[in-house]
Amino acid sequence: MRVAVFSSKPYDVRSLGAAAAGTDHRLDFFEARLNCEQVPLASGHDAVCVFVHDEVDERVLQALASGGTRLVALRAAGFNNVDLDAARDAGIRVCRVPAYSPNAVAEHAVALVLSLVRRTYRAYNRVRDGNFALEGLLGFDLNGKCVGIVGTGRIGTVFAGAMKGFGCRLLAYDPYPNEEMVALGARYVDLPELFAESDIIALHAPLTPQTRHLVNADSLAGVKSGVVIVNTSRGALIDTDAVIEALKDGRVGYLGLDVYEEEEKVGFYEDQSASIIQDDTFARLLTFPNVLITAHQAFFTAEALAGIANTTIANLTAFERDGVPLHEVAAEEPARPS
Ligand code: NAD
Repeated sequence: MRVAVFSSKPYDVRSLGAAAAGTDHRLDFFEARLNCEQVPLASGHDAVCVFVHDEVDERVLQALASGGTRLVALRAAGFNNVDLDAARDAGIRVCRVPAYSPNAVAEHAVALVLSLVRRTYRAYNRVRDGNFALEGLLGFDLNGKCVGIVGTGRIGTVFAGAMKGFGCRLLAYDPYPNEEMVALGARYVDLPELFAESDIIALHAPLTPQTRHLVNADSLAGVKSGVVIVNTSRGALIDTDAVIEALKDGRVGYLGLDVYEEEEKVGFYEDQSASIIQDDTFARLLTFPNVLITAHQAFFTAEALAGIANTTIANLTAFERDGVPLHEVAAEEPARPS
């Protein structure tokens, strides 16, 4: 199959190229993001392979269909950037990589928690500057603390296991409770109780209309003062303006973000170090000494990249052979993806 790979980085070329070796798929790599302007690049390709910032909306899907494309293969788990109804109407199938390394993302969430509560990101700079003072670096033990996990699918469950290893108590919220979590000792509660009881809140739910701005002024009114919030799922689970207010008055004591609601516009995945940040909300976040932001890198391990590439190629091969990809995402799919 001819496949147009959008938002390609050198590591995508390497990992997808290695996974496609020995198949007869022809991958054409484009650095551009897929959107209305760039969609002509896909013309004549049977499939497009896209990532989290590609805009796969109704106009793009219609243009893809007229150019002969029949499959959108996401090399990601989340699919909130694809209009599934429009894809169905355009006769285009959509597939994704449902599980590649939940460990990669869960471990990054743990890294954010540890770095925040022991302030190692600040200590690193101090020591390099010859400042060996400890004032301002006081942390707290994780042992015995209460961790609330919103979304207990693959990643949330691995995160829960790691936090249990530190001796934390586990609370969970998910419309589909999971036995593995219960076996770890987690107690499923409603969201207000989770917000009220947790010392650490970790977001691992997909972005849906129900989860958009799940952390907002109302929910933040009910958190423990100084709570740690970590988000490695999708940026829009948090109302950023509301969290900034809660950081200013100390209700949020630590904030770890791998995702941001306007991350495409900020330029995540690009070197913007010589540019002026135009997003004042993002710039404000960067001023807090207790906010640690990474640029959507939680998935970025060697194991995860190989897993993403292998499943993506398997999706393409299955689609070419059977007309149906291995891990299809369909418009009528309920909130819990298979
Ligand atoms: P998953 O499908 O295994 O689990 C998601 C869980 O969220 C499910 O148990 C589902 O029931 C639950 N859920 C659905 N609606 C909910 C709601 N309203 N409230 C609470 N929970 C709800 O997915 P996963 O593999 O664990 O991934 C979780 C999310 O992590 C993905 O959707 C994606 O957005 C994000 N992600 C981020 C990165 C990264 O690099 N930062 C990488 C992969 C995935």
